Parts: sequence; structure tokens; C-alpha cells
Amino acid sequence: MLEAKNWIGGEWMSASGADMMVHNPSQVQDEVGVVHLSGERDMLHAGEAAKKAFKGWGETNLPARGEILYRIARLLEEELDDVARVASLEMGKPISEMKGEVRRGVHLLRYYAGEGVRAVGTVIPHSQDRVLHYTKRVPLGVVGVITPWNFPVAIPVWKIAPALICGNSVIWKPAEIGSLTAARLTRVFADAGLPAGVLNLVVGRGSVVGSVLLEQVELDAVSFTGSTGTGVRIAESTAKRNIKYQTEMGGKNAAVILGDADLSVAVPAVLSGAFRSAGQKCTATSRVIVEQSVFGAFADALRKEMAHIYMGNALDAESYLGPVASADQQAKVLSYVRMAREAETVGEGHARVDPSTGHYVAPLLVTGVDVESRLVQEEIFGPVATLLSAENFDDALNLANKTVFGLSAAVFTRDLQKGLRFLDEAQAGMVRINQETAGVEYQAPFGGMKMSSSHSREQGQAALDFYSQVKTCAVYYG
Ligand code: NAD
Repeated sequence: MLEAKNWIGGEWMSASGADMMVHNPSQVQDEVGVVHLSGERDMLHAGEAAKKAFKGWGETNLPARGEILYRIARLLEEELDDVARVASLEMGKPISEMKGEVRRGVHLLRYYAGEGVRAVGTVIPHSQDRVLHYTKRVPLGVVGVITPWNFPVAIPVWKIAPALICGNSVIWKPAEIGSLTAARLTRVFADAGLPAGVLNLVVGRGSVVGSVLLEQVELDAVSFTGSTGTGVRIAESTAKRNIKYQTEMGGKNAAVILGDADLSVAVPAVLSGAFRSAGQKCTATSRVIVEQSVFGAFADALRKEMAHIYMGNALDAESYLGPVASADQQAKVLSYVRMAREAETVGEGHARVDPSTGHYVAPLLVTGVDVESRLVQEEIFGPVATLLSAENFDDALNLANKTVFGLSAAVFTRDLQKGLRFLDEAQAGMVRINQETAGVEYQAPFGGMKMSSSHSREQGQAALDFYSQVKTCAVYYG
């Protein structure tokens, strides 16, 4: 039986609240672990530990911080299979995808470890003679990291690794149903020798410990990924305290298929974007906008491919998608499936398990839906996508932008002019030609426009801007 405890000030400790049993979403009668939920006292304790550890860690030189991140990367690589297995058991992502996600975590750790020896800052001309005038990056202090369950390894690592290399200490509050994975991942950081209190894990409910973190702990920044509703509340409370914040939120991403698209590229990209991870990616393709000249051919080709993928147990290496993560998630996604009964079904996926044994929702693609419908406007976060018809390129672009979200968008075309116009005019933070809406690279900036993001960027070099502040220094030596 797996167990999620807190790791505070370098010690593993049980939380002060109740226990929450975790059931395997692929086979719900199996209990896989227990999460000891935290209360106010635990979070305040983590706040003190992080504050105490900040001084030493912030003063540790950068190459030494980098060496520790390299050690964590090495250990995570050695323990990749087990970390992936725990996550698949806890939240139902197929093991093959989960291994890829942990590998991404290893790459992110190595990437930010390398920042330990990279030159930073600039030398700036000065109007007075004999003045050395330059900038340097300094840490922020204690950073709160709040993460969702859908990427239970990669998202935490893409926040914690840059926070640590910049010299901050961290309090991490993972999602309730990512807590077993969070404890397993934290064990890697602990075993690799990260000094006590530099990373503190507090497992518990957002409404309980999340609120204590945001309102009572002495924090210098918060990085959040999750739903737009929670993100907006977090932005309000951190703005009131004048704390730096970053919120990465929901998406309703469009893939646009133009009449000249290469369908052998577009069809697998839409299939993977819409249905991998059971559609539970913020960058998942949930609106497929097809130019009318190719609508029938595209719908037929996608229907055929959907018949070949299957939904199965997350530990089955052949599963294209697993169950959704929880009973709540299943109930929410099925409410959209019921709404879709009014629409025309284009394609459906199949199960190689008895769907009643887990939180399964079969892949579904529908059409004939009004553009204002909730199916087209709301984030479903499940394997359900809508197909919309567009008269021409301009109509397709308008439809793609007709959403409050702006995370990612893709166009499939051989026409360079239209492709480049799409990159210019699509209102999304990540825009692509002939590539799926999901699956971005860790070394590039990640983030959205409109209601998808607070407009800063994560990953790549952009993360360093969030987790540090710039000091302008002047030295007169005349
Ligand atoms: P969620 O908003 O319910 O929870 C996210 C985190 O916030 C969890 O750790 C939760 O416990 C915590 N939380 C909840 N209420 C809180 C409060 N009052 N104070 C402090 N913390 C609180 O989201 P979720 O269901 O875990 O994740 C799914 C959502 O995440 C989807 O909307 C998805 O699009 C989004 N997401 C966005 C990105 C991105 O980078 N844009 C990436 C992945 C997921």
C-alpha cells in the first residue's frame, strides 16, 4: 500500500488531518494507497521550515545548486519505472505516456542544473566615468507551488527545478489525487541530498491547506497550474498581498484543417491531441475546425483511426488511453457526453476492459453542434471533441479565436501564407503548423493568452524570469 506523508524541514511526517484512501481509476475496487491530509498546523510548519532553509540555499553558489539538481536527475532516471507506475496507478495515465512524462522531468532537471554554470546578467554603459554598471539575478525567497493531477511529475518539476536553481526554497501543495506520486517524487529529491527545508511537501485539500498557504504563510511568490476558476481566485489573493504570481489555467484548443492539408499528418495529430491522456491535457485538441471542401474526407479518415485505438488499464503498455482520473472527473465528462447525445456522432473509441470496472469514458467525436454550445465553449477535460465546419480560411480563424481561452492552436495546411497568417492571428500562446496542439518542448516557453494564463511563461529560459528578480548594481571605482 502506497502512502503520502508530508516532507517538511527534511523530515517525513504524518499530517494532522484525516486519511483519504486512493482507489485505482483503472480498477476501482483496488485500493492503492492512503493520503494523510494536512491541516493548518502542517502548512504553517512548512512555512517556517522553508523560511529557515532559504538563507543557506539562497547563499549556496550556483554551480553547487546545479550539482544537486544533476544528482536528482540521475536518481529520477534510475527510478523512472517506479515513479511512472505509481502515477499510472494513482491517476490512470497509461504507463507508456507516464514513462515519457517522467523522462521529461529528468530532462527538465538537467536543463535547469545547467543554469548553474551559465553566465547571467548584463554590463550596461553608465553616464559617469569609472562606474561598473551591471545587472544580476537574485532569488525571490519562499515560493509556493500548487499543481494539478494531470501531469503529476512534469508540471511539479518544471516549477520546482527553476525555483531551486534560482536559489528559492519551495513549499509544494500537489493536487489531492496526485499526492502519492508527489510523495514518491519528493523521495527522489530527499534521497539525492537536497538540504533540509529547501523543498517542503504538504499534501492536503486545496480549500484547506491551499488557502493557508496563500493567506497565512510568509510567501514571496506563487506558481499555480490548474483550473481557471481556482487560478483567478489565487491571482486575487496574491495580488492583494503584492506577491509575484503565475497562473497557468484551462484551454479549449483548436486544430484547423484546411482544404489542402496532408490528411496523413493531420489525422494522427488530431487523434493524439484529442484522446491521448484521455483528453486530460490543458493543451488537448477539443475543437476540430475543418474547411468544408475536405470535411467529409477528414471525418471519414478520423472515424477509421478511432476504430483502431483502444481504451484500457493504465498499466497495459498497449492502451492508447486509460480511464479518466477520478469518479468526479468521470461524472463531469459524462455530463458532456449526455449533452452530446443531441449531436451527430462522427466516431467512437472502444474498450478492451469492462468499462464498469474503472472510471472509463470512451473517446467521442461529434458534429452538428452550435458554436455557442457548452460543448464548444467549455473545457471538458476528457476524451470528447467537437468537429466544426468552416467555409474558408478566414472563417476557420474566426472560429478558432471564438473562445475565452488561448493556450494552444494548430493549423494543418501546405499553404505557407495561410500557415504564417495563422501563427500571427491565432489568439494563443503556443501556435503550430502541421503539429498537434499538445506535446510542446521543455526548452521553449510555455503558456497562454486570454483566460488561459497570467501571461508570464513557464519552462525554457522564461521560467528564470519568474523565479528571480533583477538587481541593477553600480560601482564607482574612480
Ligand atoms: P484545480 O484548479 O481543481 O486544482 C489545481 C490545484 O489547486 C490543486 O492542487 C488543488 O488542490 C489546488 N486548489 C484548489 N482550490 C484551491 C484554493 N482555494 N486555494 C489554493 N489551492 C487550491 O485543477 P485540477 O482539476 O487539479 O486540474 C485540471 C485543470 O488544470 C484543467 O483546467 C487544466 O486545463 C488545467 N491545467 C492547465 C495547465 C497549463 O499549463 N495551462 C496544465 C495542466 C492543467
